[in-house]
Amino acid sequence: MDLLIDVHMHIGRLYFSDPEGLPPDTVLRFMDEHGIEIACLLPMENPEHTDFYITSDYVLEVAREHPDRFLPFCNVDPRRRDVRNMIRHYRDEGCLGYGETISTLAMDDPLMEVVYEACGEAGMPIIFDLMHGCGNHDARSCFDEPGLPRYERMLQAHPETVFIGHGPHFWANIAEGFDPYTEKSYPEGPVREDGPVVRLLKTYPNAYADISAGSGHNALTRDPEFGCRFLEECRDSLLFGTDLCRSGQTVPNTGTFRNAFAGGKISREAYEKIGWRNARELLGI
Ligand SMILES: [Zn+2]
Repeated sequence: MDLLIDVHMHIGRLYFSDPEGLPPDTVLRFMDEHGIEIACLLPMENPEHTDFYITSDYVLEVAREHPDRFLPFCNVDPRRRDVRNMIRHYRDEGCLGYGETISTLAMDDPLMEVVYEACGEAGMPIIFDLMHGCGNHDARSCFDEPGLPRYERMLQAHPETVFIGHGPHFWANIAEGFDPYTEKSYPEGPVREDGPVVRLLKTYPNAYADISAGSGHNALTRDPEFGCRFLEECRDSLLFGTDLCRSGQTVPNTGTFRNAFAGGKISREAYEKIGWRNARELLGI
């Protein structure tokens, strides 16, 4: 079995309702069961969408105990007072990326732009979780309008910074015309026309996406033929991930991704790039 790199993994206890959480041994067992060689550990330093903080320092500590399996990311809440220096500090400590960023700030909030600049200087890609915060959807993070206009402006304004998109509002925009006022967070049915996500990935060299979580899985499976074409066409800009965040969680992404290759629906090149080669290149490992 080919060994994958998971760019979107969590560790520790994130939710009050999940007392067991994800101690390191649980995550390592999950990785072994799913053929994942290396996982990026994403701290949780924004308070809005979980019950507990997972600090960058804790992630560094765990990653140092298992340097062959875990890669540390850092996370600094953009509302803290010395964001630039903290990001530099964590880069010097060995963090390879930033995120996931999941605060209620808008994609183009001036506080977020400080993070974009600092991460661009530090050579650290950023993982985003976009939630709508409008229409039928209360939960809000990295706010943007339908069509992702703020996201696009930020890609243009910070060409030296790598943006890795993820989350319901990001992936719902895989189809043209997604309307958060009338549609569900996980839209069903065929993708009739390529949406903003496809266009951004094809247009901007600093635009990437991870296929993790229910949102990524829905984008790939709501229209399976489209999903495989998308993996193939955007193979230079996609990264494998699971977004494991609580104990006992089932993660269908691994099977869906492996089966697309095993069934001859995507090329070996696409499989290897998305599965591990893009991550190695981006993270310099
Ligand atoms: Zn996550």
